[in-house]
Amino acid sequence: MLKQLLSVFLESRCPCCQRTTPTTVCKYCLKKLSSHQLSQSDRLKLYRELSVFAWGKYDGQLKRAIATMKYNNQPELGTLLGKLLGEAWVNSEQIKSLPKITVVPIPLHRQKLKARGFNQAETIAKSFCRVTGSTLQSQALIRMKQTKAMFDLKDLTQRAKNIQGAFRIGNKLPKHPVLLIDDIYTTGTTVQESARVLQQAKIKVVGVAVVAKAGK
Ligand SMILES: [Zn+2]
Repeated sequence: MLKQLLSVFLESRCPCCQRTTPTTVCKYCLKKLSSHQLSQSDRLKLYRELSVFAWGKYDGQLKRAIATMKYNNQPELGTLLGKLLGEAWVNSEQIKSLPKITVVPIPLHRQKLKARGFNQAETIAKSFCRVTGSTLQSQALIRMKQTKAMFDLKDLTQRAKNIQGAFRIGNKLPKHPVLLIDDIYTTGTTVQESARVLQQAKIKVVGVAVVAKAGK
């Protein structure tokens, strides 16, 4: 009886469907989320000389979960997604030979951070580090500029102009080669520019890990 009573208090609502659940996301939504998971062989791809490791395909329930996390203030979804990403990383055959890494989340501009209340990439990265045992360095990059959403800019030159000067090196330099972390990889412009700024400062970048990747 007491246990039943307690479980009512301990259960919260699933941020994706509002069903009560003892876990972050209900089992139905977790199943739907998992259906967008990429296979081992599709996880790691090279884009413009940068290795991109992705947990899932940016589609359906996964796309909705990421939007809910960011726009409905649900950082616990980021913790869950970061855990899934970390588990995939630990279990990946392809990354076993990697040396020690420092995890650097793609930073948000301070105004956006203030409006959203949290940086989703940092929340994902924290959870990723808990699973993988990697070191987190959130201050390695600073976002100097509020950029427009890249999907609004179809033209490559527009995108390049939009991202130019968006990042600078922070005050705390990473100890090991860097693995960047972001929630999604769509056009890749933001991540590629972050990697470029780090490399320009002679910091090695092993790649980027994202929860979801758009397209192929
Ligand atoms: Zn649900």
